[in-house]
Amino acid sequence: MRQQPASGKVFTKAIAAGWLLVQSLAVVTPALAAKSDNKSLTYGELFQKINSGQVAQVKIDEAQGIAQVQLKGQPNEPQQVTLLDQNPELIRDLRDHHVAFEEVRSYAESQAILGILINLLWILPLVFLFLLFIRRSSNASSQALNFGKSRARFQMEAKTGVTFSDVAGIDEAKEELQEVVTFLKQPERFTAIGAKIPKGVLLVGSPGTGKTLLARAIAGEAGVPFFSISGSEFVEMFVGVGASRVRDLFRKAKENAPCLIFIDEIDAVGRQRGAGIGGGNDEREQTLNQLLTEMDGFEGNNGIIIIAATNRPDVLDSALLRPGRFDRQVIVDAPDLKGRLEILKVHARNKKIDPSISLEAVARRTPGFSGADLANLLNEAAILTARRHKDAMTMLEIDDAIDRVVAGMEGTPLVDSKNKRLIAYHEVGHALLATLLKGHDPLQKVTLIPRGQARGLTWFTPNEEQGLLSRSQLKSRITSTLGGRAAEDIVFGKGEVTTGAGNDLQQITGLARQMVTKFGMSELGPVSLENQQGEVFLGRDWMAKSEYSEEIAAQVDAQVREIISECYQQAKQLLQANRILMDRLVDLLSEQETIEGDRFRQIVAEYSQFPEQQLAASR
Ligand code: ADP
Ligand code: MG
Ligand code: ZN
Repeated sequence: MRQQPASGKVFTKAIAAGWLLVQSLAVVTPALAAKSDNKSLTYGELFQKINSGQVAQVKIDEAQGIAQVQLKGQPNEPQQVTLLDQNPELIRDLRDHHVAFEEVRSYAESQAILGILINLLWILPLVFLFLLFIRRSSNASSQALNFGKSRARFQMEAKTGVTFSDVAGIDEAKEELQEVVTFLKQPERFTAIGAKIPKGVLLVGSPGTGKTLLARAIAGEAGVPFFSISGSEFVEMFVGVGASRVRDLFRKAKENAPCLIFIDEIDAVGRQRGAGIGGGNDEREQTLNQLLTEMDGFEGNNGIIIIAATNRPDVLDSALLRPGRFDRQVIVDAPDLKGRLEILKVHARNKKIDPSISLEAVARRTPGFSGADLANLLNEAAILTARRHKDAMTMLEIDDAIDRVVAGMEGTPLVDSKNKRLIAYHEVGHALLATLLKGHDPLQKVTLIPRGQARGLTWFTPNEEQGLLSRSQLKSRITSTLGGRAAEDIVFGKGEVTTGAGNDLQQITGLARQMVTKFGMSELGPVSLENQQGEVFLGRDWMAKSEYSEEIAAQVDAQVREIISECYQQAKQLLQANRILMDRLVDLLSEQETIEGDRFRQIVAEYSQFPEQQLAASR
């Protein structure tokens, strides 16, 4: 009694009802869907109609077990007949009466289609979720491709709060940069008379001399924003990131003009292109090109000034130094005695310092210290002061801090042993020769308290005002440095000398070589045989050839050896001649651990004045 299910209709109806409902409808009640008020015949009636020739066509649907019967004269009203399981007579009968018949699979097919549709309905939300997911992740991946842009690596400070008064000891540089402050503050003053404002200034100086500080002070003085990035931050593993960072930085800077851009360690990107082992580096070169493009891209008077810092101006790409780019170079020197004093004063401002402290003495004791070293030194001393529960920093803390900054942490004193005695002889060897030799830097102290790698230490107060060093001064330096080994040799014999002199020997060999190849202080005459090349991978040309022949190289070696052996002989002679004095000093040092320079000189002077008496006394 079922009629041909109008599955199509059901489906459209169902859609209106909501697709979740459709599923249950379609799955659970196909019979319901088939309900229809079409007319029907019985199986028997069908045979009658066939035999009476009323049937025009029969469509047999085996799967459903029904047949559609088209009666003659009623083309639009098919009759439905329920069939048996097997219908061989029906087929035979139809054939006998020449009725057209065919087998259809309407319901089965429609059910299959329905199944597919149902599956589709299940899949649809999944696909939807999947699409959503894809969209998300493609967003993420486009973000990943954008990271040069989104993850800005530069810092921006609206106000640095640093002024020129915080920078000391580099007055020449400050003076030159005073002008840059004026450029930023009153560009009209320059543009009015047609002067082109420089775009780039290169600060050249070794680490810790205050380049960053100076750049921040300029921005602070001019009251403009300070953009800073380090050259190494431009360069990433991915090609193109650096270039996009450069673009980004300049875009941001233009939005904030007038302002100052500070590129620290510009040598990280600005190295000579196509140089180094293995040729160029794509990423770095692209970044550099972008930097050059950006610098050319804006006019000098739009209020952006770029300050770059490096300690290796020699390796920079020449394109960077052309007019219109970093055409101004300002040298930021390591401070001299006066400079150090000024820097100490700046950093002492916010610290509690005992009035007995002479900052000048501190400055004198710290040759070669950079501004950063001095700042660190005063900070170390302040920490020591706090640790010792003192109200104000005294010279004691500063001295300890200097020792610590220069030579490392203090170790535990050695226990009495042959080893300690040997170290005492070694150090006294240095100290005694330094005191006896003319033109040698004065001894500051000699100590057996280990520090860092050293088992004992002999400190000198270099006198830097003199600036130039003579050949005989250099030689006495070599002699006193050899004094340690010479003393071990004299007292303990050749077989007992130790590795303790390794560092000494390294130092004097370098010094002696310089005397020969750089200062022309040997029999080779006043020639410079220096190899000008820097480190291979930083420099321009890695095929650095030595500039002189092997023959000359052998001569240089011979000269170096001659200077050293001459000095060693002198060291041994002097120590042997003062053996008793040396023994006395070693006893004193072993007992007291440290002898100050003045006391040491006093003992030496007493002995040289009355050597006989001293001899008698020591007997
Ligand atoms: P650079 O950039 O040349 O390596 P910095 O400017 O970073 O050196 O210096 C580090 C710190 O050392 C500064 O923050 C400052 O405290 C101190 N310093 C360095 N040079 C000076 C100076 N000339 N005057 C005062 N302080 C200095
Ligand atoms: Mg710096
Ligand atoms: Zn030594």
